[in-house]
Amino acid sequence: MNPPKATQTAAWLPAPGPNARIQIRHDIPVPSPGLNEVLVKLTCTGVCHSDVHNLLGQTPMTTHIGGHEGIGHVVALGPGCSEHLLSKRVGVKWLHTYCNVCEICALDETGCPHQHNSGRDVPGTFQQYTIHPVEGLTLIPEELSSESAAPLLCAGLSMYGSISRAGLKAGEWLVLPGAGGGLGHLGVQIAREMGYKVIAVDTGERKRELCLQLGASVFLDFKIDDVEMKVRELTNGYGAHAVVCLGGAAAYKQAWGYLRNCGTLVCVGLVPDKGAMPSPFEMLQHSWRVVGSTVGTGKHLEALLRMAEEGKVIARVEVREFEELEDVLERLGRYEIEGRVVVRIPE
Ligand SMILES: [Zn+2]
Ligand SMILES: [Zn+2]
Repeated sequence: MNPPKATQTAAWLPAPGPNARIQIRHDIPVPSPGLNEVLVKLTCTGVCHSDVHNLLGQTPMTTHIGGHEGIGHVVALGPGCSEHLLSKRVGVKWLHTYCNVCEICALDETGCPHQHNSGRDVPGTFQQYTIHPVEGLTLIPEELSSESAAPLLCAGLSMYGSISRAGLKAGEWLVLPGAGGGLGHLGVQIAREMGYKVIAVDTGERKRELCLQLGASVFLDFKIDDVEMKVRELTNGYGAHAVVCLGGAAAYKQAWGYLRNCGTLVCVGLVPDKGAMPSPFEMLQHSWRVVGSTVGTGKHLEALLRMAEEGKVIARVEVREFEELEDVLERLGRYEIEGRVVVRIPE
């Protein structure tokens, strides 16, 4: 294995904002791993919709390098790291560090108030080399190719976490608005594996075919079907047990019309609009439960990787070159991507 160079190629964002553009630069210093940290040479990275929100300044980003679905190999060790980690294939996720001692970490580290995130406040995976603490480092099973594993690290893990947090029992009805997208197509497979009946909501013939092929019980086209009426028909008039909402404000507003009393809505789609939520009166009238969910925990990821190893969850991936990243981000911003785009990192 060649020792890391002094400088590297990275997709550099000068500053986030509505007209922000990334620059491919070749003069970014390669960082050195500190105590209990490793240096990872990345081979590929998924591109997530939240990267687009960060880039455009819609969500806070304080680093110049985005990305949080990276796969690569450990090429250098900081002090305190075990030698056996060298050359291991690992994943770099959104949750970069968490304190692991606070009261929140004891419950769920993804809510840690002291966390740092790849591509948000520490440099992410749109570069050749990145630093990662040993704590929380994910080993990638041999059975999975790097390109098929990358989307599991954020899209897949977000779905595993959010579906788990819906608290359903086997055989109950789950609605997934946005089921045909990068997160949704993994969510359909994960929910099916967990034993839930999935009502996929999206639009277009290709997304219909995809969702039904992946195991959705029913597909509803929000541009054609009366979604509220159809969901009620399927659920004895009560509505769905849970909704994991991946869509925009309109999808949230519609979801309240088909969520049953005592049902759970899990918020995943990044919508800043408070008008998408019901009033406290409506909440109590229907005994609804609302849960916010970013990504899943380390335990969730272990379970998800096992599903993927067994071929039960497969990411639909379009592989692109690093130079095409800007174009990929623009297409994502226009919701033109089905499944997930993974870009190769230059050697
Ligand atoms: Zn993401
Ligand atoms: Zn903590």
